[in-house]
Amino acid sequence: MFDRTTLPYGVFSRPGGQRRIGVAVDDGVLDLAEHLSPAFEADSLNGFLAEGPARWASVREQVQGLVGMPLLHDVTMHLPFEVADYVDFYASEQHATNLGRMFRPDGEALLPNWKHLPVGYHGRAGTVVVSGTDIVRPRGLTLPGPEHRASAKLDVEVEVGFVVGVGSELGTPVATGDFEDHVFGIVLLNDWSARDIQSYEYVPLGPFLGKSFATSISPWVVPLAALDRVPAPVQDPPVAAYLQVDGHWAFDLTLSLRRNGSEVSRPPFAGMYWTAPQLLAHLTANGASLRTGDLFASGTISGDEVDQRGSFIELTWNTEFLADGDTVTISATTGSGRYLGEVSGRVVSG
Ligand code: CA
Repeated sequence: MFDRTTLPYGVFSRPGGQRRIGVAVDDGVLDLAEHLSPAFEADSLNGFLAEGPARWASVREQVQGLVGMPLLHDVTMHLPFEVADYVDFYASEQHATNLGRMFRPDGEALLPNWKHLPVGYHGRAGTVVVSGTDIVRPRGLTLPGPEHRASAKLDVEVEVGFVVGVGSELGTPVATGDFEDHVFGIVLLNDWSARDIQSYEYVPLGPFLGKSFATSISPWVVPLAALDRVPAPVQDPPVAAYLQVDGHWAFDLTLSLRRNGSEVSRPPFAGMYWTAPQLLAHLTANGASLRTGDLFASGTISGDEVDQRGSFIELTWNTEFLADGDTVTISATTGSGRYLGEVSGRVVSG
């Protein structure tokens, strides 16, 4: 349950009603269209996201004065924002090392570029779905064969997604120090992955149908103002100037991965090698523009310990994956114990 200070934003409806913007308080929803402004009668957060940091701070302050107002309980949550572009990174050294060891046992675990830039790829924005959406087991060409069959290696990736509010112009890279001018908040994200489809198709252009069938996000977007920060891990070798960050900091949160209600791991986010401002700076370093609703994700979060790994391929060393009917839930808390919500999805046969 959210406390009364986190104040995440989402889009909800009541039976027979229009979609509206609300804030989660305790176990209920504060209707901002009713209590603050008709401007919050909206299908998505995008209009509010585009208004920028001064407006975000002002609304947050006003909402803090409304937490005692009556709350709604009988609501349906929807995708909180219209996703513009979706990018997925690969920022955990432990995750990249585990996969490198599994698939290149005779070579270096990390490829030579890995500590020089945050490796990433462009995902499919149109298949980002809200928590609670069933995930149909994908079909694709897999070995032996190849034959077109249902994936036998359906997996999850525990990630944090960053939501862009304010865009940037083409040809104008965003500096690491300007992170808060563009990014509104975070969602919890499950990058569903079909390992057998992925491993056959990915050479040489990377993830495609093994990833693009679905990505689940939490319904509540937690503003950056509600997150804790800690010093980030030291980077060696030193990174290029455009990736350097004053005070090199990281968001301090711990995730929880549950399968059918049982916790199987607790991935720690603060230890990620590449930090959020670095991911954003890299995303725009070539002059690519940003748009309101852009979503960029951290990549699978894995820690040093076995029970801190954020995917089943790492937890079971490529031996055990999801069965039809399995429900996977990812939740998170900050370092100071503040609940940040959850994202859940059930696998159905395809
Ligand atoms: Ca991923």
